[in-house]
Amino acid sequence: MLRLYRPIEHDIFKLHTILEHLVCNVWCEACDEACDSKLQNEFKALYVYSVKKGVTLKNEVERIYKIFQVIPIEDRALIKKAFEKNNDIERLCNGEIPIYLNELNDVISNDIKPLFKWCYEVLLNKEKVVGDKMDYYKALIKHNNFHVCPCCGLIDIESFESKYREAFDHYLPKSKYPFASVNFRNLVPLCYKCNSDRKKARDPIENERVVFYPFSQEDHSIEICSEFLLSNNDETLETELEDFKIDFIGNSDKIDTWKWLFDIEERYGSQMKRFATSFLGHIRRLHNQFVSLNPNWTYLETIDFLINDYKNDYFDDKKFLKIAFLKAVKKDNAFLQTSA
Ligand SMILES: [Zn+2]
Repeated sequence: MLRLYRPIEHDIFKLHTILEHLVCNVWCEACDEACDSKLQNEFKALYVYSVKKGVTLKNEVERIYKIFQVIPIEDRALIKKAFEKNNDIERLCNGEIPIYLNELNDVISNDIKPLFKWCYEVLLNKEKVVGDKMDYYKALIKHNNFHVCPCCGLIDIESFESKYREAFDHYLPKSKYPFASVNFRNLVPLCYKCNSDRKKARDPIENERVVFYPFSQEDHSIEICSEFLLSNNDETLETELEDFKIDFIGNSDKIDTWKWLFDIEERYGSQMKRFATSFLGHIRRLHNQFVSLNPNWTYLETIDFLINDYKNDYFDDKKFLKIAFLKAVKKDNAFLQTSA
């Protein structure tokens, strides 16, 4: 994540709290008493919705309750622990080991996982039953004042005024972490290139990786540096970048996961190569204007002017990459002078 979301409070978090009660205080406490007596009224209000043809949410909750009645106490204790642990997304991102599905009673994979997937995909879309995804998206984007995807910084995202929204990525995939299916601390609006083209259902924390937590309130910064030599291609008239490399300065383990998940290095490199020719033209034209006002003005002064100017709106218009480009050009500014 190039930038992190500042979290907000919203009604959309309610469903997760309701499901937590259902798992930990109803199913895990299943006994001879009727299931209904343990449920909160808020949950009973959702009972009428159909999970599939002829099966209501009420039917499904009671069916799972019956399964739990014969689950051993130790299994239930581990399920409760897993619910808590696998929903502490920030700690998991920082290296805490989750409790995996294969360690838990089969009821989680066979019965609860499909039900919670339905809760996210269907129940949350029903007439704002328990918070509205669109309303939450708008509030989150407005609060953060983001215009481009905070993960890659490259792609425009739907604004809070749009009729549309970006999809939410299950940061820890719901296939492996079903207890976090409707936990909006695990649901992150990302651009389609980051979400559906690159990350898909990959698990950021597999093999004990650490990863940026998208809603972390810790200080977060990544500096991008680049090095290359410039040369002109006589046939295409494009400027080419030779010996090209990009460095990322920050938390290196988390940066590695970010690069792997979202193909960041390749995407940033191709952006720089793409804008190289036109951007160098822009630098030269600006430089000529400065020289017309002051004949002693140097190329380095033009480049420094742009770097300082771009720092004002670092995340707009890929300026964080343009600054990396300008700093690399600065090291090779002989090119600019000879090809002016
Ligand atoms: Zn993106």
